[in-house]
Amino acid sequence: MDVQASNSVNPAVEDNIAKDLLVDSHERIGKSKKRLPKPQFVDKDSRILWENVIPVLVFHLLIPLALLPGLFSWWGVLFLPVGNYIFTSMGIGAGYHRLLTHRGFKCPKWFEYTLALLGVCSFQDSPARWVLVHRLHHQHSDHQPDPHTPKVSAWWSHMGWLFVDNRETTTALAYDRYARDLIRDPLYMWLQRGLNWVWVYFAHAVVITLAGFAIGWLATGSAVAGYWIAVQVLLWGVVMRTIFTWHVTWGINSFAHMWGYRNYETREDSRNNWLFALLTNGEGWHNNHHADPRSARHGHRWWEIDVTWGTLVLLEKTGLIRDLVRPNHSALDRKAA
Ligand SMILES: [Zn+2]
Ligand SMILES: [Zn+2]
Repeated sequence: MDVQASNSVNPAVEDNIAKDLLVDSHERIGKSKKRLPKPQFVDKDSRILWENVIPVLVFHLLIPLALLPGLFSWWGVLFLPVGNYIFTSMGIGAGYHRLLTHRGFKCPKWFEYTLALLGVCSFQDSPARWVLVHRLHHQHSDHQPDPHTPKVSAWWSHMGWLFVDNRETTTALAYDRYARDLIRDPLYMWLQRGLNWVWVYFAHAVVITLAGFAIGWLATGSAVAGYWIAVQVLLWGVVMRTIFTWHVTWGINSFAHMWGYRNYETREDSRNNWLFALLTNGEGWHNNHHADPRSARHGHRWWEIDVTWGTLVLLEKTGLIRDLVRPNHSALDRKAA
């Protein structure tokens, strides 16, 4: 693997990302309590995104099944924090967000792809579309056309926006404008095409379930016991873990723009929300993040625990990642609340 050529922000790649897409736009300083309508390109012609509605609905309908005696187990519950860290903190937090969206560090391409594929296994859209939506959010946070501001409604910001086509985020022009660096990459383009990313998620679910069956069979010597453990692993290691990580991630768009404290005067309503910061291993220090989006460190004060950042520092010490972007204190001091 050619590490030099595969580093994320070499000048060639940076040329493909408008610099202002990596940081917040500060054209419109000032906040307003006014409610906003839905984004302009969500209207009566917008189709319902059944490809999102159906999985979210079906997964939530499976919750009572996972709680039935015989299918519930405390070792199953352990999948939530462990899976949250591996697939979502590393995949979405470090991969989709701090690396692909904001280019907060550099690493070999194979490692970037590993993080991105862990993110795919969180079932939160393809890397290219996630990045597109998130860069649009930073450009227009809590102003039109932010795709998921709670100024429309709390429900809209948490999950409503996922279920209806916002043409601002699905056209070729939008991909070119907001995620050109990703759609020029063969893996991200392949994941995008024909919803291949969904098949990757499906494959990871099959692998986890089969591993549960194999371990159960080997541990008990009974194929029937193996089947039951496989069902439990599917319900807790895949379905419940995915639901849990959906809500903690979506909570950044909703709760961390409504409730919490602000270290910095930013042009939107971002908040540091300690509960979601703990649940997401650092993403909930969202006011800090909006104040300095390039920084891969979201927890700025000593008590603002950011497990994802800690992991990135460890990886930097091993030499696997480099040029980890740290908070820009002189710029941040000027925004101190
Ligand atoms: Zn935000
Ligand atoms: Zn961001």
